[in-house]
Amino acid sequence: MSNPFPGFWGNERVARILFRALQGGTLAHTLLFTGPAGCGKKTLARKVAERLFCPDLCGKCRNCALLKRGSHPDFLMLGPEANFVRLEQARRLQSFLTVPANSAPYKVAVLEDAHRLTPEAGNSLLKILEEPRERTVCILTADNVDNVLPTLVSRSQVYNLAPLPPDELKEILVAKGAQQAQAEFLAAFSGGIPGKALALLADSAFSQQRENFARDISAVLARRRDPLEVAEAWHSQPQLFLDLLDLWLRDMLMLQTRQDYRPANIERADSLAECNAVCPVDKVLFLLEESVLARERLQALCNSRLVFDSLLLKMWEV
Ligand SMILES: [Zn+2]
Repeated sequence: MSNPFPGFWGNERVARILFRALQGGTLAHTLLFTGPAGCGKKTLARKVAERLFCPDLCGKCRNCALLKRGSHPDFLMLGPEANFVRLEQARRLQSFLTVPANSAPYKVAVLEDAHRLTPEAGNSLLKILEEPRERTVCILTADNVDNVLPTLVSRSQVYNLAPLPPDELKEILVAKGAQQAQAEFLAAFSGGIPGKALALLADSAFSQQRENFARDISAVLARRRDPLEVAEAWHSQPQLFLDLLDLWLRDMLMLQTRQDYRPANIERADSLAECNAVCPVDKVLFLLEESVLARERLQALCNSRLVFDSLLLKMWEV
């Protein structure tokens, strides 16, 4: 069967189950989509609304047109404000679902990040969901089902979206215009999260940052450049640097220990070889541990410049 929700990528099994419920009329009034940020929960919620509003996805009717434009009066998407979903938003959702549909066959409300509901908002939402109106669908999203009020979970049909296997995500990225090697890197770097990979593919600054990173890391490991200068250049983007570093070190390690390994950074194979020439396995392992420590220190709100000075100096050491 072709993709029942065109534009939603991956998690085909979940998509098929959901589509069957939709077609068979067994879709619950409350759905809960769970999974890490960027895995497609919001996209899927929109796609469900599209199917409910126009089962054939004709693309021409009023419902299709208004949804596409983001101005359909029977579709509402709400998210947390200042980190919490508050009572006010739960009430907005309630009044939205109470008024009959305008032109669509259903009313669909999406509430993002249901794990951020305040207790009052959660209770208020629960009351709405306990006695749902006919032809209304409320879609909740959350990072993890364990973080959602159990009473909400028990009233929902739960669909869990997982990160995509690297090959599957690679294909999607290539279809979106990525080069093979770039797609391989992004699939690995994003941890299989399509939202993250696609955002990086569209980010023109990112490939330059990767270039700079490869240049800087090779220069420090080969003791060709002052590590403190590199720390100065990168400490304001600690997350990006550490994410690039982890994958880089993993490539170095695997290249030294496995014959047939194809590195995620295949486009920069020369720089990887240069690094491996001056960095034996035990130092790579040591640096991987240091990278973990650096993350812990940043989480403990240590000064990022100091954390980076210390990390980069360790790379420079023999
Ligand atoms: Zn239509």
